[in-house]
Amino acid sequence: MTTYDPHEIEAKWQRVWEDERSFYTPDPAPGEEPPNHWYQLEMLPYPSGTLHMGHVLNYTMGDVLTHFHRRHGLSVLRPMGWDSFGLPAENAAIREGGHPREIVEQNIAEIRQQMKRLGWVIDWDREVGAHEPAFYRWTQWLFIRFFERGLAYRKAAPVNWCPHDQTVVANEYVIDGRCERCGTPVELRNLEQWFFKITAYADELLHYEGADWPERTVTIQRNWIGRSEGAEILFRVDELDIDIPVFTTRPDTLYGATFFVLAPEHPLVERIANDEVGRYVRHTAQKKTEERAAEEAKTGVFTGFYATNPVNRARIPIWVADYVLMDYGTGAIMAVPAHDERDREFAETFDLPVIDVVTEDGVLVNSAEFDGMPAEEAKRAIVEKLHGEGRGASAVSYRLRDWSFGRQRYWGCPIPIIHCPACGEVPVPDDELPVLLPEVEDYRPKGMPPLASNTEWLNVSCPRCGGPAQREADTMDTFVDSSWYFLRYVDPRNDAEPFDRRLIDYWCPIDHYIGGIDHATGHLLYSRFFVKVMNEMGLLGFREPFARLFHQGWVTMGGSKMSKSKGNVAGPDQIVARYGADATRLYILFMGPADQDMEWTDSGIEGISRFVRRLWRVVHEVAERAPEGDAGDGQVVRKAHQTIDRVTGDIERRLQFHTPISAVMELVNDLAVDPQAQGARFATGTALSLLQPWAPHVTEELWDVLGGEGRLWERPWPEADPALLVHETFELVVQVNGRVRDRMEVPADLPEADLVERAKGSAKVQAHLDGREIRQTVVVPGKLVNIVVG
Ligand SMILES: [Zn+2]
Ligand SMILES: [Zn+2]
Repeated sequence: MTTYDPHEIEAKWQRVWEDERSFYTPDPAPGEEPPNHWYQLEMLPYPSGTLHMGHVLNYTMGDVLTHFHRRHGLSVLRPMGWDSFGLPAENAAIREGGHPREIVEQNIAEIRQQMKRLGWVIDWDREVGAHEPAFYRWTQWLFIRFFERGLAYRKAAPVNWCPHDQTVVANEYVIDGRCERCGTPVELRNLEQWFFKITAYADELLHYEGADWPERTVTIQRNWIGRSEGAEILFRVDELDIDIPVFTTRPDTLYGATFFVLAPEHPLVERIANDEVGRYVRHTAQKKTEERAAEEAKTGVFTGFYATNPVNRARIPIWVADYVLMDYGTGAIMAVPAHDERDREFAETFDLPVIDVVTEDGVLVNSAEFDGMPAEEAKRAIVEKLHGEGRGASAVSYRLRDWSFGRQRYWGCPIPIIHCPACGEVPVPDDELPVLLPEVEDYRPKGMPPLASNTEWLNVSCPRCGGPAQREADTMDTFVDSSWYFLRYVDPRNDAEPFDRRLIDYWCPIDHYIGGIDHATGHLLYSRFFVKVMNEMGLLGFREPFARLFHQGWVTMGGSKMSKSKGNVAGPDQIVARYGADATRLYILFMGPADQDMEWTDSGIEGISRFVRRLWRVVHEVAERAPEGDAGDGQVVRKAHQTIDRVTGDIERRLQFHTPISAVMELVNDLAVDPQAQGARFATGTALSLLQPWAPHVTEELWDVLGGEGRLWERPWPEADPALLVHETFELVVQVNGRVRDRMEVPADLPEADLVERAKGSAKVQAHLDGREIRQTVVVPGKLVNIVVG
């Protein structure tokens, strides 16, 4: 028997797969579109570094499912690509020199090698990178289609601004109110920015037709979208000659409004701010939204202005306070301290009046002609009255805001718009796409986006009137790239359109998508929005991109999620070098249920590595010593069928990746005890066949050792014979108060609780229980159950 050398075996089979193109997936020919296909996808990696064990978990799960479905006769699409634009590469280039492109391409080359070394089944012909012009040409083309439909637009909106770096700072880079890079406190500024009008789809995004998603993800998205029903009411500010709209779910409390509050980011605040308000707004910008919402001590500043309550003409003072968020309603509220806790805390802090307008029984008081009316009825009646006066109407409000996707940074997809003084915003003509990302001297923004520093690129003539004009210098958020990358895999080299409609409707929606739940309110929402719009454009025939979704747990180290920024990263390279890819793959899935967090330890892999070596020895022994011929229906054959049943059910129905490994281990243990048993060859082949998706190299090698037929990765998935699934039984004696009342045949491996249930279920026993209270049950395993009543 040769010794187990994972490196030799793994290199050998990886070469075979590559040479034979075993895992490349052909597209169906026109007219020939068999229904047996599956699109397996995991979220694509961000190549700011190389792979860590969190990635290994994700892609190995996808790999097991790919093999599993392939061996069930499906044509499985399993592509890979790179989310290669974005800040980390740009910041690395600023820090360490070099071009962001060189940095990501070097990482991509390394990751690709890591993936091949792990033996993952990937159709490399379909590889796509967000930073490649052949891809972002179509990101730009899609943007223009959105723009033409009014779904991409520009407006002024508040941003975090670092006065030192002279740049916008994304929320995730504001730490304790300061710029992550230089530590300067950030300020709020209103700047013209690009938005996608995702709010136009707010209502449809609440529904999941054709998407079988985990309940918690649906809940997170629904809360994020935050639909509420109420009324929009106009409050007049005479001094400014304007109306400020307010959304409320409680129009019945309108007579109790004693003051008015604007969020610090409200566009009106800039216009009416005195020095004190200005200082307050700058101070507020240093707090995170969640902190503001949770704060107990209420703060705020009076603006000196008053708003008129439309129901009673009361003039109420306008305050700016940070407990009101721009995220909800209109960013302005009528404050009703008698019936809103946070308004009450504010009123108490600043000694503002409190007027009760709804009694404990839910009837209106202090509300003029509505006094005595039940609150629910008053909601309608008050809105009706205001509607008649043109001061209000029923409304639905969403917490969801339009998606701000413009970035004043370098390393992203250029926005294909030309600003013409005469024509306004003019899209770059389709036949001039892509707008290539230009070279610049310095990636650092200096009061303007880096792209604007390349004036040769920036200054162009207007495509519409020919006059002098300028290109848009913002780039797109990387979430735009990832909102449609999964569609491009289907037809990655198409240079006439983003993808062929026939192919997209054949392969999509994605049958199974694996990725982190942290993407619930970003990528997973944006992708749904993109697909709905593309459906309306006639580009594809479905409205939900991901039919099924699975969230893996985090791989933690030292108790926290592995991440490059925290420095607690274990990569696969050393582990694979020491134990081989098969042991690495087995271990990452053996650590626990894949949807729960798991703590990585290097030492844990030793046990799995021993199992693989034992498997090697056992298969060799069986190959040499086990009898040929009919497998029969002996113990080990029954065990093999039970293992088929367990592994198949765990993957197919429960998406459990760790329990199948234990099941195969048990079978291998039985084989180790008696490798010469009748049927040992069959049982060993079954163990290899079941383990193949987890450990494709060593099982393939051992399949040959055993003299198995053909290539294991092409063998049909084994099927359990129901006749051999029947377990051993024994005769259970059932007593009531120590006297035998019944006997019954039960499965040998039935747990004690089930034995008791069976015993209680017997009609003869029931007759003797006679409705009396059961005080105790005594179980003698393999023999009897005694029920004590009294
Ligand atoms: Zn800064
Ligand atoms: Zn023009």
